[in-house]
Amino acid sequence: MDKLRVLHIVEGTSVDGPGLRTSIYLAGCSHHCPGCHNPESWSMSGGEQRTLDELMEVIAYNEAPVTFSGGDPLAQPVELEKLTSRIKRELGYNIWCYTGYTWEAIERNPSLMAVMRNIDVLVDSPFILDQRNTKLRFRGSNNQRLIDVKETIAHGTLTLWHD
Ligand code: SF4
Repeated sequence: MDKLRVLHIVEGTSVDGPGLRTSIYLAGCSHHCPGCHNPESWSMSGGEQRTLDELMEVIAYNEAPVTFSGGDPLAQPVELEKLTSRIKRELGYNIWCYTGYTWEAIERNPSLMAVMRNIDVLVDSPFILDQRNTKLRFRGSNNQRLIDVKETIAHGTLTLWHD
């Protein structure tokens, strides 16, 4: 049975994207950014395993858009692709995803791009302590970008998200 390692789930949060959202924090991150707010999230054996059915139940119950954060959600790309496909197919909800990878690195990796086909907005790039900016919306350092993934894939040009 397909499972994801989940650190925690926050239902009805407004800090990880627009509106009230269900935020799912996934375990594992290989980026190890100096100044990371959550180094406990780095272990690939952290959190607990949750089946995709269990996660779908929580997401559907909240009737809200979804954000994946962590850790780096793209540390579990195969299962994340399956879950995000189900969210789109069965619920049609908007999906945001945070990652320490740059969009340019994701584009070169087919398994990460498979996840991107289900993502609406990607907050990309590692956190850089020297570029930390507490005034930014939905991100922590100036190098990080809010990418409109659908537009970027459709037009082949990196397109930033605006609300
Ligand atoms: S990508 Fe995010 S979770 Fe991973 S080390 Fe960097 S700030 Fe921490």
